[in-house]
Amino acid sequence: MSKKTEPPKKTEPSKKIEKVPAEPAKVEAKPEKEKPSKPERKKKEEKGIFKLYKLEQNRVLRLRPTCERCGTGYFMADHGNRFTCGHCGFTRYKPAENAHV
Ligand SMILES: [Zn+2]
Repeated sequence: MSKKTEPPKKTEPSKKIEKVPAEPAKVEAKPEKEKPSKPERKKKEEKGIFKLYKLEQNRVLRLRPTCERCGTGYFMADHGNRFTCGHCGFTRYKPAENAHV
């Protein structure tokens, strides 16, 4: 019996010693300390909005056209050969030269 396992006398029965879990220090931290599949839920609002803007020098470029009906602020989704507005359903086909298949 080593002395260091002796607890400070706090009117606690010696029984408790047996229940003390292994020292955490003994368990060496594993090299791969990756977090267990934790759902990343930060900045959920932004979703893919960053895709719609591009910063160039001091200007903000919008990579998507805005809806003609709804006005600025309503981006149209890129569907390959056309853009559609999710707000009003407006669809605009891309000019052929601009459409990259
Ligand atoms: Zn619209």
